[in-house]
Amino acid sequence: MPIEILRLGHRLHRDYRITTHCGLVARAFGATKMYYSGFEDDKITLNLHKVNDSWGGNFEVQYLKNWRSFLKQSKLEGSFIILCTMYGENLPDVEQEIKSIKNTSNIIIVIGSEKIPSDLLHLSTLNVAISNQPHSEVAALAIILDRIFSGKQLSIQFDKARLKIVPKKQGKKVIYDL
Ligand code: SAM
Repeated sequence: MPIEILRLGHRLHRDYRITTHCGLVARAFGATKMYYSGFEDDKITLNLHKVNDSWGGNFEVQYLKNWRSFLKQSKLEGSFIILCTMYGENLPDVEQEIKSIKNTSNIIIVIGSEKIPSDLLHLSTLNVAISNQPHSEVAALAIILDRIFSGKQLSIQFDKARLKIVPKKQGKKVIYDL
């Protein structure tokens, strides 16, 4: 089942690195697409597509002008929407429920930036806290993907890669133009 990310509230300049990092984590850890809302920023899309060009795969990035109508429509079409928020149920208590999600078209994981709009707390299918302490969207995303994929995402082989790392205990070896 495809897993997609929605990164809310991107702010130009200020959030460039962190939104890019959300995309990098999403791609590396097995999600197929990142939507983002807030300010449209072509640099985000461009840079993540450059990562595909070098490191393979077909990770998609799409800007959303209206995330509310997107989520409402996706829910009607059968998406399971997981909102990452410290106010949700703590991950260990819902991990099995998440792992046994069936009969949905996809999973959309929503991560915020500043304060999450309160209506979103009711729009999602499940609100999940990665501990009930405040921290970061990048950490929350990495951990929830790790639990969903049970660590298997660490060994994904991306097709059409031009670069590949040969793991080394020391030093560095990269194969170019495979
Ligand atoms: N004070 C903000 C709030 O009330 O939403 C926290 C913003 S935090 C810097 C940015 C995003 O990280 C949040 O919107 C949420 O998606 C994610 N996040 C932070 N801590 C989290 C936690 N403990 N569990 C799940 N997600 C978390």
